Amino acid sequence: MNTEIYNEEEKNKIEKSTLYLVATPIGNLADITYRAVKILSEVDFIAAEDTRNTPKLLMKYGIKKPLYSYFEHNKREHGEYIVSRLEAGESCALVTDAGTPAISDPGEDLVVLCQKRGIKVVSVPGACAAITALTLSGLPTRRFCFEGFLPPSKAERRERLKALANESRTTIVYEAPHHLLSTLKELYGALGDRRVAFCRELTKINEEAVIMSLSDAIEYYNGAKPRGEFVLVIEGAPEANDEVPKMTAAEHVEMYMSQGMTKMDAIKAAAKDRGVPKSELYAEINK
Ligand code: SAM
Repeated sequence: MNTEIYNEEEKNKIEKSTLYLVATPIGNLADITYRAVKILSEVDFIAAEDTRNTPKLLMKYGIKKPLYSYFEHNKREHGEYIVSRLEAGESCALVTDAGTPAISDPGEDLVVLCQKRGIKVVSVPGACAAITALTLSGLPTRRFCFEGFLPPSKAERRERLKALANESRTTIVYEAPHHLLSTLKELYGALGDRRVAFCRELTKINEEAVIMSLSDAIEYYNGAKPRGEFVLVIEGAPEANDEVPKMTAAEHVEMYMSQGMTKMDAIKAAAKDRGVPKSELYAEINK
């Protein structure tokens, strides 16, 4: 890769009337780029999702800048104010709680507002929990999709999970620890017994990435309290198998039983091939 195709100094100069989306660490404070530190040190002001957390990062790098709060519940009013300062010629760096702004956080709305008002936006890449988890998961990384947080509304969530049942790409989901067990149960009901990589406390002291089936995970978390931040990396649905549509569900189960499997194992294997939960296949053959 040729990294000197442009004049580096020129490219890294802070421009007026520009919003910089600056990626910050997701745990380990050393995970920040030279460019991010330079931009945070040189912009006119910093818009931060968490004005109590960001000073720790700024202090570590000796950065002293005025902070302005921008988070979910003030994003409309404060977004307008930030854009008015950008229109007046100032430069601003947006940092969110952790990771890459605009990924599952209100940064997305500020980018839209800037686009509407003709304000230049520059993204300064760095840590992102989704990508960090995907690379550790051991699941296919060639094709993947990012779901972020599943919708909180029950109806929307049901629809989203239904759509995910046939998604053959590796799927990345964010989840808070206190919702983990209920989400795992919903995923099991909608997707069947898939493998999931539980990527926890990434880049921190207690970082771990453990891969297990949804049924094993439900059993485990029924007894153990989930702690820390989680990214779930979920195995995709099996690619449509040409043979499957030609067989009824009962024929499919019989095929496996004729190969020596018990009925329950045959149901499990056929459900996996068809990308449906075991319970759905069981109901189908017992209709
Ligand atoms: N913008 C961030 C990014 O680039 O990843 C994501 C922000 S989102 C509000 C926060 C969620 O990201 C958490 O609930 C968790 O699912 C995930 N996350 C953030 N940091 C993490 C970490 N160190 N380990 C595991 N998951 C993390």
